[in-house]
Amino acid sequence: MLGDQLDPSGPAFRGHRPGEARVLMVESEFALRRLPYNRERRVLVIGAMRRMAESLRARGWMVDLRQAPTLADGVRGHVADHAPEGIVVAHPTSRSGLALVRRLQRDLPVRIDVRDAVGFITRPGELGEILGRRQPRMDTFYREMRRRLDMLVGPDGKPVGGAWSMDTENRRPPPRTRDLGAPAPWLPAADDPIDRALRDEFAGLPETGSGGERVMAATPEQAEAALDRFIDARLAGFGPHQDAMMDDDWAMSHALISGPMNLGMLSPLHVARRVADALGDGAPLASVEGFVRQVIGWREYVWGWYWRRPWRQANALDATAPVPAALMGAPTRMRCVQVAMEGIDQRGYSHHIQRLMVLGTLMLMRGTQPWSATRWFWAAHVDASAWVMAPNVVGMALFADGGDMMTKPYAASGAYIKRMSNHCKSCAYDPRLATGPRACPFTTLYWDFLDRHRERLGQNPRMSLSMRNLDRRDDLPDIRAHARTVMDDLDGGTA
Ligand SMILES: Cc1cc2nc3c(=O)[nH]c(=O)nc-3n(C[C@H](O)[C@H](O)[C@H](O)COP(=O)(O)OP(=O)(O)OC[C@H]3O[C@@H](n4cnc5c(N)ncnc54)[C@H](O)[C@@H]3O)c2cc1C
Ligand code: SF4
Repeated sequence: MLGDQLDPSGPAFRGHRPGEARVLMVESEFALRRLPYNRERRVLVIGAMRRMAESLRARGWMVDLRQAPTLADGVRGHVADHAPEGIVVAHPTSRSGLALVRRLQRDLPVRIDVRDAVGFITRPGELGEILGRRQPRMDTFYREMRRRLDMLVGPDGKPVGGAWSMDTENRRPPPRTRDLGAPAPWLPAADDPIDRALRDEFAGLPETGSGGERVMAATPEQAEAALDRFIDARLAGFGPHQDAMMDDDWAMSHALISGPMNLGMLSPLHVARRVADALGDGAPLASVEGFVRQVIGWREYVWGWYWRRPWRQANALDATAPVPAALMGAPTRMRCVQVAMEGIDQRGYSHHIQRLMVLGTLMLMRGTQPWSATRWFWAAHVDASAWVMAPNVVGMALFADGGDMMTKPYAASGAYIKRMSNHCKSCAYDPRLATGPRACPFTTLYWDFLDRHRERLGQNPRMSLSMRNLDRRDDLPDIRAHARTVMDDLDGGTA
């Protein structure tokens, strides 16, 4: 049972009963130390593994939970100690995990069977099969998924409500109140003794974040409670404000379930069906559709893309800059970045629009080297893993795949953040200004980014309006000069 396959009814368990087979789990020292992870990430992942081991033992399973320098060492140690007749494992979620299993299949004197992956609706490679010769676009994939799963589809094969996407209803700016006013999410007990012990245990490892708040479920039961709470109290508000950001509301109406889903403790199909069923209980269609799209659409699309191409070397925009200093602990006057970084520091969590339109967009327009950005996101967030990081960061946020995944880059000026948040009101910068000491770094970099990549992006029909607006600017020389200052400030920690 790998650390992200924490499903005791998963494919590797099929055909086995407690008392007849032993469950091997390995806490790999290498994996623990690979990056300076956010403190809450180790608390979540290792905490979930240990709780699962206990729960399996309580149900009569023999469990070999071992600590080893690497995963391979752990498997070898298990084989040496227990001489199993065979090993069964669910399909790893990363290329390196799969390569390791293949190596062990060759090297070990025991048969290793690889079964389906845990935590996904589609198989690796199935994205291509579903789309056939069509352009791989999320909307097309999502429609096919709705049809295949018969989810929010009427008997006539048409989408319930008449449209496949309710996105136009789901892009409202935040209210004028201090926070969104959504009912609180499910959260674990603040003084959970296992969490406290884990924070102490890993205190010596290189880590980021001051930690202290686990916000994601660490057992299947907790995950179900988080889902219940979301559907009962928060789903209705999810749709309209799913793209909004507020100074005093770190969770908005988000579900906080990516962690347990990515650890294999909460099935995405189960999540999507429960949310779709909530329509019958009166949940608004725009929220239900918006959420179902995230899970059977975006999440599966990203998973499919992970297996479709290599990511590590992708750098279509020739980006070479370091991760902005404000993301590495330097103070910043950019309010939107401050708020996202506070969430990461405390909880290892930022919500989707903060990841995409604040942190991602900043790195895109600064020209941050894509793999450095990927490693940063990975270390910063508790719900990260290889399959989800690479396409989201390299493809979606940084457009470093040259547009394989998305039709255009998510570049945006401060005007977008001003519209979709209340951050700009209390910011030292002015989102309307592209030059001068109070110019918003997003606005300056937006125009400079379009200008820098004019040749490449000018050929993209979806960028033509932006390019026409760029051509209308008569202050481009000033913007270019100010952009150099902004970049120096971002690199030097004075932005
Ligand atoms: C640059 C960048 C980095 C990201 N890093 C991660 C990551 O490390 N781990 C991760 O699980 N998600 C990641 N995402 C996707 C998304 O931001 C998170 O899944 C979401 O913020 C998790 O919080 P939530 O459960 O409250 O989500 P909600 O907003 O409530 O959304 C519901 C669910 O939809 C799924 N989902 C929606 N969009 C995506 C997506 N693009 N990729 C994968 N799943 C998606 C998630 O499972 C999420 O739990 C990233 C997105 C971007 C743009
Ligand atoms: S003015 Fe610019 S930097 Fe400040 S919060 Fe708005 S978008 Fe962010």
